[in-house]
Amino acid sequence: MTTGILTIDLDAIIGNWRKLAAMSRAEAGAVLKADAYGTGAARVGAALAEAGVRKFFVAVAEEGVALREAVGPAPEIFVLSGHGTTDTALIRQLNLTPVLNSPQQLRRQFDALPGRPFAIQLDTGMNRLGFEWEDWAAVTDEVLGAGPRLIMSHLACADEPDHPMNAYQLDLFKQMTEGMRVSRSLAATGGILLGPDYHFDLVRPGIGLHGAAPYAQGAQALQLDLPVIQTRDLIEGEVVGYGNTWQARRPTRVATLAAGYADGVLRVLGAGTNVYSGDIACPIIGRISMDLITVDITDLDADPEVLTLIGPQQSVDDLAVTAKTIGYEILTSLSPRYSRQYI
Ligand code: PLP
Repeated sequence: MTTGILTIDLDAIIGNWRKLAAMSRAEAGAVLKADAYGTGAARVGAALAEAGVRKFFVAVAEEGVALREAVGPAPEIFVLSGHGTTDTALIRQLNLTPVLNSPQQLRRQFDALPGRPFAIQLDTGMNRLGFEWEDWAAVTDEVLGAGPRLIMSHLACADEPDHPMNAYQLDLFKQMTEGMRVSRSLAATGGILLGPDYHFDLVRPGIGLHGAAPYAQGAQALQLDLPVIQTRDLIEGEVVGYGNTWQARRPTRVATLAAGYADGVLRVLGAGTNVYSGDIACPIIGRISMDLITVDITDLDADPEVLTLIGPQQSVDDLAVTAKTIGYEILTSLSPRYSRQYI
């Protein structure tokens, strides 16, 4: 018994990457951190490498292990968190390119792995990661002399095209890299949609590969089907689940599904969310449990084998709206317990 079947459409992911790449004259990489936003970095990475992606991004060095094995030796794998105290061996062994974020990381890289590839991240106002202006000014000549593969920064408000922070960060990034003959990158998915001023030499889409906001016009690349493990009939007045929060107002047929909040079906989705049998909506009833969901299937002609939580009738973004969160969180919460199949 599996908790759920996640079907990942690799052609849809590749199609989204191609469309995003075509919006820019810059090279398009792919951000596959958090196991490719829950969809599986090895399979997604291999498919994208075959489609022509030459630069990948992961969050931490450990994520490079499966990806390097999947994509082979040629593509460059950047590690966004940089060169941590315990990362040196993996960076060397897997030929990763750490994105150095601070003077400390720069020293670590230059001391431990002199002459090996590295990139630099500049802080242009997000105040999260990256060299601040003064620290950067102090090492600029040394860094440029060592030949960084890339100088990048990250936009804080790119999903709000009219936000003044976008122009502010763009301007600061230009100032901090002025006159430098080095490859530059500022835009993730939201930044690609802001237009060519933001594209520089390399764009770094992540969420856009999955067709979720801010690139909701992309193709949704996944479907999540949850198996029915039991059905039962309730008479009017009977209750369902923890806290007895749901009571039958009519004779009701209930299906119990094998996934719960431990699988990323957020508990807040309990009231007001449907699962689908084809295009027929079946409301989730009662509280979502750790490994189980209960659903009203009275309107179906027959008991289904599975019900669909994410699919043609309900997107990742739809669920995010209901859960008052973002598609990124819905995707990266997708359970490791789901069996993943690729089409
Ligand atoms: N670049 C950096 C530094 C990031 O942290 C992220 C993700 O948060 C991305 C690129 C990809 O962003 P998105 O998923 O919005 O395309």
